Amino acid sequence: MASTFLGLLFVQIMYMENMIKMRNEQFAELVKRSLYSVSTMLEQNETKYFLDQDLEEAEATYSAMRGEPSYPITGDLPQSVDTTKLTRPANLGQLKDLHDSYSTKQEILKGQYLYQRGLLNEVILTILWQSSDRPIAERADSATVHDYLKSELEFNGIELPFEYAVINRTTGIVYSSAGYKPQSQSDVYSQVLFPNDPLSNQNSLNVTFPTRGQYIFSTIRFMIPSFIFTIILLVIFIYTITVAFKQKKLSEIKNDFINNMTHEFKTPISSISIAAQMLNDESVRKSPTMLKHASKVINDETKRLQFQVEKVLQMSMFDRKNATMHIEDEDANAIIYGVINTFMLKVESYGGHIDAHLDAEDPIVNVDKMHFTNVIFNLLDNAIKYRRDDEPPQLTVTTRNPDEDTLEISIADNGIGIKREDLKKIFEKFYRVSTGNRHDVKGFGLGLAYVHKMITLFGGTIKAESEVNKGSKFIINLPLIK
Ligand code: ADP
Repeated sequence: MASTFLGLLFVQIMYMENMIKMRNEQFAELVKRSLYSVSTMLEQNETKYFLDQDLEEAEATYSAMRGEPSYPITGDLPQSVDTTKLTRPANLGQLKDLHDSYSTKQEILKGQYLYQRGLLNEVILTILWQSSDRPIAERADSATVHDYLKSELEFNGIELPFEYAVINRTTGIVYSSAGYKPQSQSDVYSQVLFPNDPLSNQNSLNVTFPTRGQYIFSTIRFMIPSFIFTIILLVIFIYTITVAFKQKKLSEIKNDFINNMTHEFKTPISSISIAAQMLNDESVRKSPTMLKHASKVINDETKRLQFQVEKVLQMSMFDRKNATMHIEDEDANAIIYGVINTFMLKVESYGGHIDAHLDAEDPIVNVDKMHFTNVIFNLLDNAIKYRRDDEPPQLTVTTRNPDEDTLEISIADNGIGIKREDLKKIFEKFYRVSTGNRHDVKGFGLGLAYVHKMITLFGGTIKAESEVNKGSKFIINLPLIK
């Protein structure tokens, strides 16, 4: 799916790119065509100018020579004489007359033709030799260029605002419109004016369109929604996959947990059932030591069971949003003392010891007894779980009142410690330090997350200090009831 999405995005981007390219090319083509027309029109203009000038001059000399008022020599030169239109002559004399007048007419026409041809030649020569001497600003003045450009661009369907400049090859900008500021060479459309001028004195007409970008962009605007939808789809897809993975991980952890639990339940249950069977035995009941032993087994194993059940309950705490809490005023010292008692045997079985300095004079806090017990339990359990192999566990539990509003509980151990980078994350759900060589330690990364959540709910704070291979210290601060 991911590659399909990427492919889809790629195709869309390619499509957009192509559209922009095509549109640019089309635009450039139209502008080029308009510019070419403008250049042709300017050339025609110039021809007309010289023609007019020469005609004026010729007329002046002609009338001066003949002493007659000048008449315009305009109109077309007849290509041939239409003889059918001539009326038939009556006699020879008449015919001769007609011939004479016809010859003179022909002479006149010929004269006129030669004269006009000479005139045109002269104009052409002038254009060839002199025109490029005229200043360009005169040959193509700004207003004319503007008008021609505007009408030609409009004719080709480009109705964007434009800026233009006439630029000489050697002297640079001759004149330009007020807003002519090309950002880059690719913005400029250029056309040589009067291409027959000598190369060194050639001029070109440059045009830019300040809003061309928007214009081009407007043609691909319709693609944007499809682009956005694809992105949204991609985001949703990524989100769905992450959720699916999270769910998978969670359900794996739960399965592991349940498997572990059932296994852990089996041992105390079988021990208790053996003890119960012993109690059924008459001889055992008569021996006080045996009786004591059986009851101790039952007691210990029930505690173990209780602990396991508690763990399952803690686990379900995370799933139920509105877990019911029974917040009451509780004596923290008493609760901690109870938990230490249950742990004493365990620590001693590893050859260790728990030091308890429950010195807080005011230990009354507003907590849920069960959850608070679990919190202390988890912390002590971790302190033993993450003990060092080379040294017996040495735990120190203290309570004190650092000020009159706070109860501080600290649980310190001499265990393996936690690295600095892990220390920041241990309160996160499912975060476990890769314990490396400690494969025997089972856990789900939920213990401290639960502790953190509960302490926060009780209105307190918890922080951890640790040094690798020295030990860790968890410090809880809870507000006191006044
Ligand atoms: P877990 O189920 O793995 O014990 P926790 O949330 O209780 O999950 O602890 C998270 C991690 O913090 C553990 O994997 C462990 O590496 C580290 N940790 C917790 N308590 C201690 C401690 N007292 N000493 C050293 N490491 C600890």
